[in-house]
Amino acid sequence: MADFDDLLKANHEFAASFDLSGFDGVAHAGVAIVTCMDSRIDPLGMLGLKPGDAKIFRNPGGRVTPQALEALVLGAHLLNVDRILVVPHTRCAVASNTEAELRERVAASAGRDASWQPFHVVADQAAALTEDVQKVRSHPLIPDTVLVGGFIYDVDTGLLEQIV
Ligand SMILES: [Zn+2]
Repeated sequence: MADFDDLLKANHEFAASFDLSGFDGVAHAGVAIVTCMDSRIDPLGMLGLKPGDAKIFRNPGGRVTPQALEALVLGAHLLNVDRILVVPHTRCAVASNTEAELRERVAASAGRDASWQPFHVVADQAAALTEDVQKVRSHPLIPDTVLVGGFIYDVDTGLLEQIV
């Protein structure tokens, strides 16, 4: 039971100065972000936002998956979202390895076969981003009034570049 003690101790310190009690769950800045799980990305910080401002959906590669679309539909209709940013990033493992390479690396770590595990690698990041943005823009339940942009985040400079 001690496996998480360090984190729970930190949580108690966090709760001691917690000031978001009773806060509603809408996106106060009207922003939703789909981005990668990469630990180099601070989705709020990179946009000058703070807790309460944005809905954030993360997965490997920052892809617009069916679950991401669920989140964006809810965001657009129930949670005040009127701008959506899709943000993959430079030096992403999902965009710089082949499916076979990732499977080999995981198999080496796991010590067992990983050939059955999909990782949905991206061969052309800009093309995938354009396709993902189109999926959001063309979704019948995402209103045309919601602005959708596709950006690549540079993990070495902290800068966003709009691609689409
Ligand atoms: Zn990534």
